[in-house]
Amino acid sequence: MIGDRDVTVFYDERVLGHRPDAREPFLPGRLDRRVREILSGLGVQWDYPEHPGRLAAIHDLLASRPVTGVRFEAGVAATREQLSRVHTTAYLENIYELRGKNAWLDVDTTAVSPGSVEAAEVAAGTSIAAVEAVAAGRSASAFALVRPPGHHAEPVRARGFCLFNNVAVAAAHAQAALDCPRVMIIDWDAHHGNGTQEIFWADPDVLFFDIHRAAPFYPGSGTLEEVGVGLGEGTTVNVPLPGGAGDAAMLKAFREILVPAADYFQPDLVLVSAGFDPHRLDLALNVSYEGFAAMTGIVRDIAERHCQGRLAFVLEGGYHLESLSHGVRTVLEVLAGADPAEPMETGIAEVAAAAAFHRSAFTSE
Ligand SMILES: [Zn+2]
Repeated sequence: MIGDRDVTVFYDERVLGHRPDAREPFLPGRLDRRVREILSGLGVQWDYPEHPGRLAAIHDLLASRPVTGVRFEAGVAATREQLSRVHTTAYLENIYELRGKNAWLDVDTTAVSPGSVEAAEVAAGTSIAAVEAVAAGRSASAFALVRPPGHHAEPVRARGFCLFNNVAVAAAHAQAALDCPRVMIIDWDAHHGNGTQEIFWADPDVLFFDIHRAAPFYPGSGTLEEVGVGLGEGTTVNVPLPGGAGDAAMLKAFREILVPAADYFQPDLVLVSAGFDPHRLDLALNVSYEGFAAMTGIVRDIAERHCQGRLAFVLEGGYHLESLSHGVRTVLEVLAGADPAEPMETGIAEVAAAAAFHRSAFTSE
């Protein structure tokens, strides 16, 4: 039951200092239009979709409706050495030069404000702190509530609201410094984690499993055929789904692809790139809260079976504030010991009963 397991939530207010303003004139017009397109229909009042209000909404909900067994810890900034495990020196220099500035970084959606570089350093370092807490056994599991998100960030460039690849930095740290050579990363954000995939593309010691909405959908990568290269061939596993796929498809993929992959790989640590944009109130995949709970239960079981439960979550996307905050809370309840119920398949039993009732009318017996 809830409270049986301890969960550490890492939260650091410095991540709120990243607040690009899409109304600023430094943003070219076509990019501005793109941001507005993303915003339309989501009921978001901020001009830049990846805004500080996302974390404020989560924090407020956890303060007003605490989850038993969850305690909070502050975060820490990542060092240059930690970031350089997954990003090039030249890229880090480019980002560090943006300290204190407003700027536009990439061809799609990513901008910075004066506090953004520090926020990104804290996001990556806080993801490391979450991994350290579970690797040291200080906490059964951990959740790094961070932004900017990370999974689109590549070794040499920012993309998709992401500056540093937080989950990749955490995984590389676990391999290099925490005696966890084999790391499994599960990315259930609605968008494909192109950056994480690229970073570990040839690494046989990181199993990257990514379930996402299929192209045409941002960022366009993540086909079945993208499986890694060289020694890493087979340790990238993509499951593209059609938009609106829902709980049943998600859970079938977890049970029939993710669980066998984990049994084969035998990780020393399990990380989750947890986006909440698959929720039905958000962008893409029609997942319910019960769906997120069941997914968390499967991931928790994988960590228990293979690596003494070592499991850390890192926040990625999620733009509808209600489903984002309640989604995080749902995950925390399961990490704290709740037994996830199987999601309702509403109406299926009624249709089966109706079919049985009507069947005699259409048969000749
Ligand atoms: Zn996303």
